[in-house]
Amino acid sequence: MDKGDPVAACVGRHGGDAGKLLQILRDVQAALGHLGPDAIDAVAQALGIPRVHVEATATFYHLLHAESHGVYEILFSDNIVDRMLGKDELMAYLCERMWLAPEKVSEDGLVYVGSTSDIGLGDQGPAALVNGWPLPLLDHNRLDLIAGLIRNQKPLPDWPAMLFEVVPNVRRGDALLAEPHAAGAAVQRVLEIGPEGMLEELERACPRGRGGAGFRTAVKWASCRRASGKAHYVVCNADEGEPGTFKDRVLLQAHADLVVDGMTVAARVIGAARGLLYLRGEYLFLAAALERVLQRRREEGLLGDHILGEPGFNFDIEIALGAGAYICGEESALIESAEGKAGRPRNRPPFPDTHGYRGEPTVVNNVETFACAAKIAVRGGAWFAAIGTPESTGTKLLSVSGDCARPGIYEYPFGVSVRRVLEDCGAQHAHAVQVGGPSGTCLSWREFERRIAFEDVPTAGAFMIFGRQRDMFEVARNFTHFFTHESCGFCTPCRVGTSLLSNHMDKLAAGKGSAYDLAQMQRLMHIMLTMSHCGLGHTAAKPVVETMEKFPETYERRLKALDYEPAFDLDGALQTARQITGRDDAWAHLDAGKP
Ligand code: SF4
Repeated sequence: MDKGDPVAACVGRHGGDAGKLLQILRDVQAALGHLGPDAIDAVAQALGIPRVHVEATATFYHLLHAESHGVYEILFSDNIVDRMLGKDELMAYLCERMWLAPEKVSEDGLVYVGSTSDIGLGDQGPAALVNGWPLPLLDHNRLDLIAGLIRNQKPLPDWPAMLFEVVPNVRRGDALLAEPHAAGAAVQRVLEIGPEGMLEELERACPRGRGGAGFRTAVKWASCRRASGKAHYVVCNADEGEPGTFKDRVLLQAHADLVVDGMTVAARVIGAARGLLYLRGEYLFLAAALERVLQRRREEGLLGDHILGEPGFNFDIEIALGAGAYICGEESALIESAEGKAGRPRNRPPFPDTHGYRGEPTVVNNVETFACAAKIAVRGGAWFAAIGTPESTGTKLLSVSGDCARPGIYEYPFGVSVRRVLEDCGAQHAHAVQVGGPSGTCLSWREFERRIAFEDVPTAGAFMIFGRQRDMFEVARNFTHFFTHESCGFCTPCRVGTSLLSNHMDKLAAGKGSAYDLAQMQRLMHIMLTMSHCGLGHTAAKPVVETMEKFPETYERRLKALDYEPAFDLDGALQTARQITGRDDAWAHLDAGKP
């Protein structure tokens, strides 16, 4: 390894493997401060791959940047809940204190302050990242302290630890969180009952994937076990980027052994020797502790060769970090990203269970799903199936945030009513709840008897509460902008549709909308729903559709006219030019085409 050449050092650290390109680029940016053209050239040369491949990955992820972001990069989480807690005002306050403009590096090259999508701290907002490390519970006092530390150029390790303290915030535990789990208990059990016995327990338990899609875990694992390939892989999807979700953060922070046990059980069932924990880049702060858990398990014989003395049971896990791309929560996009590429969803079929990571059979499951699998191994399928409802067995972790007294993690058996959750978290004047994040379901106060379950209101975990004082149009507008920002750009209906939809919402917000705009939005939403390549495009219009249906008054009061009203005021834009040239024919451009 060449210590004088940071790029060579980063490439060497990852064994010169082009499949680790994203990890290499993360490291190079950490070493150089940004990924300029020279760095891209050097990485391409060191890996022996075309420059265009390196650039395609480097420009795809929001946390990678071609320009320097200074010594201190502060990114405020731009979730709607952070906004409700004063994010915009706090960001403006810090910029004023530091004498800088938002989204620009200070003139002395010291600091950059900007926004990023939700960072997974909805229960501890407003929050931000400084050089990738979390700053929860921001207020004026904390920002004064931070401004002073930056001005004095204190290195991050010398900042007060309390600034970075993220607590698990578990308010209600049940089958997963209420009782301690002994590391390796699930692995021991799967050795006793064997892979087929574990599949039988899974079939009895009938768990469905906790990431949102709800696919039956037993079917996925059995299919992957049957698939032939040079190697099998287990991938843990810890890229929870859905705004309002933070349950995986808590599972990985406080229950990592449960999750890793579940991955190891999956490895035994499908015959995998390698696993990958794909951790969202915003959870960098969890990586070191997770590495320690993995190392301890190796020392205890729970990872590595001949696990628990079983000949041939070899399995180990490595952590891959994302770099800020919501779409990587989609399993095929996640695999692309884990292979070092831009995280664009693949054409499916084939599905990952037969053609996944590096083209080989792969089980991809959510963090919570692996935790459930470990519990099922220990307590049995019948125990799990007795919890929840017949269609939705087990429990669900809810990430509760927004207008309530006690935000945090709540675990309930499936089938719990929305009203019960609102009562438990102290939401006294709830007007609406967004269940499952922007791509989920918006429930009005009339629907609070509905139940959290696959057969009623399914969710990956977000539970955002909006009180009577909130404007649901602005909530939908925030979500629409989020999808525009996160569209990967691969297919036209989503790339263009999200952008046009955002423009229409902005036009309505500016009081220039008409019934014509609403009709146009309906047409756009239909195209996006039916013609997009992946789930992001299919659901991007959902917040608008649902808020239009459930809160029509928030749209109607913004309509300026029933007829068409252009978003762009051409006459207004030409006025200065008319004055300069002394013309007063305001409508001349409309006659331009006349003979
Ligand atoms: Fe990308 Fe959107 Fe198309 Fe999905 S629907 S592939 S996110 S452009």
